[in-house]
Amino acid sequence: MVGPVPVGGRSPVSAQSMTTTKTADVNATLAQVYALGGAGADIVRITCNDVDAAQGLAEIVPRSPVPIIADIHFHHRLALAALEAGVAGLRLNPGNIRKEAHIKEVARAASDAGVSIRVGVNAGSLDKDLLAEFGAPVPEALVRSALHEISYLEDVGFTDIKISVKHSNVPLMVESYRLLADRVDYPLHLGVTEAGPPPGGLIKSVAGIATLLLEGIGDTIRFSLTADPVEEAKAGRQLLEYLGLRERTGLDLIACPSCGRAEVDVIKVAADATAALEEAKLPIQVAIMGCIVNGPGEAREADIGIAAGRGKGHLFIKGQVVRVVPEAEMVSALLDEARRLVDEGVEARLAAADVSAADLADETRIELLEVQGDANRSEERRAAVADIATGEEA
Ligand code: SF4
Repeated sequence: MVGPVPVGGRSPVSAQSMTTTKTADVNATLAQVYALGGAGADIVRITCNDVDAAQGLAEIVPRSPVPIIADIHFHHRLALAALEAGVAGLRLNPGNIRKEAHIKEVARAASDAGVSIRVGVNAGSLDKDLLAEFGAPVPEALVRSALHEISYLEDVGFTDIKISVKHSNVPLMVESYRLLADRVDYPLHLGVTEAGPPPGGLIKSVAGIATLLLEGIGDTIRFSLTADPVEEAKAGRQLLEYLGLRERTGLDLIACPSCGRAEVDVIKVAADATAALEEAKLPIQVAIMGCIVNGPGEAREADIGIAAGRGKGHLFIKGQVVRVVPEAEMVSALLDEARRLVDEGVEARLAAADVSAADLADETRIELLEVQGDANRSEERRAAVADIATGEEA
């Protein structure tokens, strides 16, 4: 447990993030903790790098909406101080807290406080002896560092442990966790360290974390982005939702990539719709499709969607067109219908459909096919296939 959040076993995979404020600045840090919690972080880590920070934690912890983990490097006394401040978890870096007696002292105090510890190995701060032995922070070295630290904790009967072996290189990160998962039964915290700014940082994080989660490895995750931490909290939560590991709490917007058939600026409509729907905090999947020719069919799995065509927006629910609105009202009509859908349910909204909407959409689709032609050249291809099959010249 990290406070009230279960980690490991059959518990939902949790998303973590970390504050970037000075911990001693209690109000600024608390404001960020609230923002991170609101963006989807289940657990927030805060650095405890000096006495002022530890004192800040004493004020932050009781006012935080999510459990707080103190991040500890070098000074084991700051871990003891953070426990006194009431944190729900500690993160210890084995690369820079190395004395056995110190580690055991912290483990005993954490045990007394009912607090869990993450052994957080990081390729960039690997124990210098292991670095010398292996020559580089290779997966075996990272895992060895974690197992060494765990042996100290287990020596004093401490097993409320989770482990991370973060690397900035995605294939090495994946390999490190696979190796670790083969050797221990403790919950694992996943992350690609120093992933950098988006979009590269997001891609690296998703590549490493999603690969492992889909293999059944990983119990809690963090995106380490060089960005506003709200972005990483949001991304972590979204990844878990997209992988089906957590229930959807917010918007899942799907949109066609647009093409020569598009009857509207799909990028702009998608951006406007995202802004409006995110603000409304509706837990639904919404599709924005550039044309009525293929839109409703391709997005029939979405809860609700809209497809453009001949100056109009065609609103559909589960692929069935329920209303046709002027193009300028596409986003507002979508928002209105989405709200009603969440309040009243799919069946009620399908029953309330405009009876002429489906016919209107069909007319527009036929009209567009006549104007734009059939991009798939279906008739032409059918004829060519038939000619080949019958042995006649095309
Ligand atoms: S929905 Fe229409 S505009 Fe969008 S990609 Fe498909 S064919 Fe192109």
